[in-house]
Amino acid sequence: MKAISKKSLSTGIYVRVSTEEQAQEGFSIRGQMEKLKTYALLKEWDIYDIYADEGISGKNIVDRPAINRLMADVESGKINNVLVFKVDRLTRSTKNLLELVELFEEYNCTFNSLTESIDTDSPSGRMFLKIIGIFAEFERENLIARVKMGLERKVKEGYTIANHSISYGYYKEPKQRVQNVHLEEAEIIKEIFSLYAYQNYSMNRIAQELNLREIPTKTGVSWGSATIRAILVNPTYIGKVRYAMEDKSRYFTADGQHEPIISDEVFRDTQQRIESTTSHTRTKLPKERSYFCGVLYCGRCGCKFTTQNYTYKTAKSDKNYKSSYICRTRKDRSINQCTNPNITHWKVEIAFCEYIQNINDITETADLIAIETANSAEQELLKSIVACEKKLKNLQTRKNQVMEQYVQGAIEYDEYKILIKKFNKNFEKLEDELQRKKTKLSNLKITPKIINEDVILNLKENWNYLTNTEKMIFLRRFVKKIIITVEKQSYNSSSVNIDSVEFNYA
Ligand SMILES: [Zn+2]
Repeated sequence: MKAISKKSLSTGIYVRVSTEEQAQEGFSIRGQMEKLKTYALLKEWDIYDIYADEGISGKNIVDRPAINRLMADVESGKINNVLVFKVDRLTRSTKNLLELVELFEEYNCTFNSLTESIDTDSPSGRMFLKIIGIFAEFERENLIARVKMGLERKVKEGYTIANHSISYGYYKEPKQRVQNVHLEEAEIIKEIFSLYAYQNYSMNRIAQELNLREIPTKTGVSWGSATIRAILVNPTYIGKVRYAMEDKSRYFTADGQHEPIISDEVFRDTQQRIESTTSHTRTKLPKERSYFCGVLYCGRCGCKFTTQNYTYKTAKSDKNYKSSYICRTRKDRSINQCTNPNITHWKVEIAFCEYIQNINDITETADLIAIETANSAEQELLKSIVACEKKLKNLQTRKNQVMEQYVQGAIEYDEYKILIKKFNKNFEKLEDELQRKKTKLSNLKITPKIINEDVILNLKENWNYLTNTEKMIFLRRFVKKIIITVEKQSYNSSSVNIDSVEFNYA
């Protein structure tokens, strides 16, 4: 089970008013809804649905269609976050509240109350849970603790908990307590461990192999190195069960009731290899950092090179980025795989600088006026685009502040509506302007009246002073192809040779 990131919360908003409350002012269902919607927007939660019980008192628990629907959606996993205006909206009965909280806990659903600032995902929210637990003792036993202890006991006895998904290699019938080995999947699991621990396959290569053989995953998506990693570190395969995977302080494993698939020895060897391998996780970098992308071509097979970025750990920092380029046929592992190895970005940069410095046939008489006017117009546009983007960002910050004030009750609804309307109008205006400028910029690029020598001369003089983004713009505008050949020098080092550069002329 992966930890829920705040941003991916699918939120159910629950509102309720009783008949007496409906008569009172300032507590309308619409008022609650507006504030809650704004609050969810501020927190960047997705709103799944709004559940409204109108004209129903907090004591009535049975005849509340909306709350029943809410609970069903929690159980089916459609929502994993519940937001209410006040706790007493949910229920006025402590016993009932505890039952609801128990349900939320069981399905890993967080619970938020706007007025009381309760967020069960935060330490103070969990404190709240404890406090209502203590109160509940007066009514009856402490339900939450019992539930938690019950779950812990269940794990200690070796059962997987209901809300833990069943690992690949196992299956469980709805009412069964112990998971069974899925014979076909178990063979794949054994193969994955063996390929990784003893045959030196990378996680990525294992995933590709399985995809190539069209082996389905449990969820129907294709295999990736992350899926393989999750399998390789999963102690379920040596017969353990895990508890509280999302909370390191409470996490523990216990001997399970189910059959292991992998021996302790294979699992230990696997963990050793994982620890000794520096983690090279592929990652997406902003594209301007790999500005050669799109113009690099393979000198061996003619294919385009594509970017391949990694993060890696060093003693100093956990996150270092390394961007490199790789021939597409090699990356895709097609049948006619190319022999050109991958090459780091900075090696291409050095080779390209050398290449342009060594182009000799430049006529000094070239007409430089054209490029200068085009350039300065472009510079102006770029500058105003940046300014425009900055304005948009400021506007968003101010809008958020107003939304926050409204949620906290510092601004009345009417005033808030007017302010937001104004913000949205300015937003639209700025976005229009930005779009216009961007179109203008791209049009500017289609009609440069520039000749070959100018480009090269300009390149020679200015390349080193350009920012990454400017280099990217330059390459896309003036260069059609940079054809390269990569030579492997040793197992971890390559050199690059630029065979030729084809320029783009208008
Ligand atoms: Zn190639």
